[in-house]
Amino acid sequence: MSTSLATPRRHWRSFLPGLTAGPATRVALGLVALMVMLVLLVDMLVGGVIPDAAERAKRERKLTMQMLASQVVSELQSRGPAQLQQRFALAMQKHPEIQSVAVLAYDGYTIASADHASHWRLAPDAPSTLENMRSVLSADGKPWGELQLSFAPAMPSGLLAWLRQPLVLGFMALALLGFGAFHLYLRRAMVYLDPSRVVPDRVRAALDTLTEGVLILDTDQKVMLSNRAFGAMRGNDAALTGQQVDRLTWLTDAIQAQGIAPPWQLALQHNQPQVGLNLQLATHAGMRHTVLNCSPISDDGKQARGCLLTLSDVTELHERTERLRLAMAELEASREEIRLKNEELVVLATRDPLTGCLNRRAFAAESAAMIAAAARDNQILCCVMCDIDHFKRVNDTYGHAGGDVVLQAAAKALGSALRAGDLLARFGGEEFCLLLANTSLAQAREITERLRANIEAHLGQALRGHEGVRITMSFGIEQLGVRKSDIDAVIDLADQALYYSKQNGRNRVTAYEDLPGQDG
Ligand code: GH3
Ligand code: MG
Ligand code: MG
Repeated sequence: MSTSLATPRRHWRSFLPGLTAGPATRVALGLVALMVMLVLLVDMLVGGVIPDAAERAKRERKLTMQMLASQVVSELQSRGPAQLQQRFALAMQKHPEIQSVAVLAYDGYTIASADHASHWRLAPDAPSTLENMRSVLSADGKPWGELQLSFAPAMPSGLLAWLRQPLVLGFMALALLGFGAFHLYLRRAMVYLDPSRVVPDRVRAALDTLTEGVLILDTDQKVMLSNRAFGAMRGNDAALTGQQVDRLTWLTDAIQAQGIAPPWQLALQHNQPQVGLNLQLATHAGMRHTVLNCSPISDDGKQARGCLLTLSDVTELHERTERLRLAMAELEASREEIRLKNEELVVLATRDPLTGCLNRRAFAAESAAMIAAAARDNQILCCVMCDIDHFKRVNDTYGHAGGDVVLQAAAKALGSALRAGDLLARFGGEEFCLLLANTSLAQAREITERLRANIEAHLGQALRGHEGVRITMSFGIEQLGVRKSDIDAVIDLADQALYYSKQNGRNRVTAYEDLPGQDG
């Protein structure tokens, strides 16, 4: 197994992040190097561009030599060798580079010398050098001796001395100035020329095919690229490149209105994508709903080098969603309407419209379920039949509407006695049936008696404006499963007990077992 996958090789420069020069610096350095090379090349080909220090020194020294030689000759002719030492001292003072002087006759006789032995290094017949120069001395066209001069080294020894030469200093200043000028110019021009910033045409063309707006920003939040869709949002295409993104106020204002930091700033700062920012933007095509996403563009060292910003126009989606939402709300409303209508239908189908009590059909269905549950749980049920006494008279006296009011009040009074699981039905006219759950006959008598007394005391009050009217009801009770188990048969027995109450003065409660001939 190769380990190269696990540990990819890193470029040496990635270990020295602080030393990575920017493209402007690199190009400026290159240009300075090129400039220096050009100067050297021109000097090499044409010459004279860079003055030759050695050549100059040689010329100057030769001149000094010649001057001194002629002075020596004339001195010797006029005054003899006595004054030569003084002449040498003067010359050495005037030309500090002279280290020693000597005048020698060819016969080996030294006519005069100053500090010469320690500085003269030339062999007797060796030609002159920059440091040791000799010049022939003649009299009447006949050479008789030579003037020897030792000079200080003409070329600097040591790096520092070399660096201090005016030529080197000038060259360095030129290079430095050149670098500064190039760098300044390049930094300004880099927005368009920086190779890291310039996006290849094929990438630009690919981005232009997208319907999403795309911006590429550099670390200074300057626009490096905007694709066609982004430019079209405000109707101006090319002018964005090089601009600070903050200048796109139509975009930044919308972000600011939400009280948040620009997502590209966060993306660059934290090197984290910022996605799903909903923005309403005033574009060329009017107000549009958009979604803004920002992704940092990282280098090998995971440093954010820029940021990719995409802007998707979701107006149509938004509108469709809005329409869908409205349709859903309408659907929900109509579902609720249907539910209410259904409830109404159920009420209409199962309830008596005047009193709200169960109708006979609903009573039959519900009582069957109740009886089955009671049989399962071994519980006692009691059936109570009741009827308003002399109701015909109520109708006759207070009208049919008055009778209806009394019917409603009677139903309410009977309903107040019910517990959970009990049933109350209107069996037609002014006759009601109660089915009491988990109630013994004795309990049923008690409940019914309370009801009777309550009705006698209050039912008449339902007829407003006719105070003091007394309306009563008669009751008949039978317990299920004692004589009969079938509900209709039990109702019939309770009805017989009710009839007995009617026959015996009304406003009373009779259980079937109370009837004469029953032994209960
Ligand atoms: P009893 O004490 O023997 O029961 O006498 P009653 O007058 O109450 O009995 P009867 O059966 O003779 O009269 C019942 C009356 O109830 C007849 C009918 O007009 C009236 N009635 C039936 N249904 C309604 C109704 O829905 N509204 C009104 N107001 N009266 C009704
Ligand atoms: Mg009646
Ligand atoms: Mg009746």
